[in-house]
Amino acid sequence: MKRLVLASNNKGKIVEIKRLLEKFPIEVLSLKDMGIDIDVEEDGLTFEENAKKKSVEIYKELIGRGEKDFIVMSDDSGLEVDYLNGEPGVFSARYAGEHGNDKKNNEKLLNKLSGVKREDRKARFVCELALVTDKNEYFNVKGYVDGIILEEEYGEGGFGYDPLFLYEPFNKTLAEISMEEKNKISHRGVALQKAAKILEGLI
Ligand code: IMP
Repeated sequence: MKRLVLASNNKGKIVEIKRLLEKFPIEVLSLKDMGIDIDVEEDGLTFEENAKKKSVEIYKELIGRGEKDFIVMSDDSGLEVDYLNGEPGVFSARYAGEHGNDKKNNEKLLNKLSGVKREDRKARFVCELALVTDKNEYFNVKGYVDGIILEEEYGEGGFGYDPLFLYEPFNKTLAEISMEEKNKISHRGVALQKAAKILEGLI
């Protein structure tokens, strides 16, 4: 059976991807499962560059070990705000300096948008997925979801910028809806559904 190696150590993402691919005859493995301890630096200028870099580095490691029958998949995601010319973009996780400090990132975003009218607070979450097969074939897919950055946080669910991100069709932030609902409409959910179609053709 083919193995899908996720170039990520993020438990939440791994659970999400495993659930989506449940029906596929493919074994979904994390880097930890493969005994790989590599932290690829996300220094690209685009989500695609970062996602590709992660997949290629893990591909090289696996080939170097003589592994066969695998596909590597990695993702990079973030928030783009129109008024800020696409910021925080690839810097989403470390917008306020410290990697993964959601509270500070959200505060910085609100400060940057202070006084900006609702019609100018349009934003989107973007997710780029990169796949590299054991034959060094490369595929990439993108998913996105549009929304509005509110002036304060609403909801306790989700993570990152979710409490500030209004999904207009539901009139709720992504922190106010269930994980299942979020997965159906989110950038990552959309990109994963596209990746699943590619995987269908590969296994
Ligand atoms: P990464 O793809 O793990 O590098 O995540 C980049 C950053 O983008 C995260 O740390 C969050 O700040 C933000 N982000 C990505 N996806 C989401 C999401 O679904 N909700 C909220 N924030 C997100």
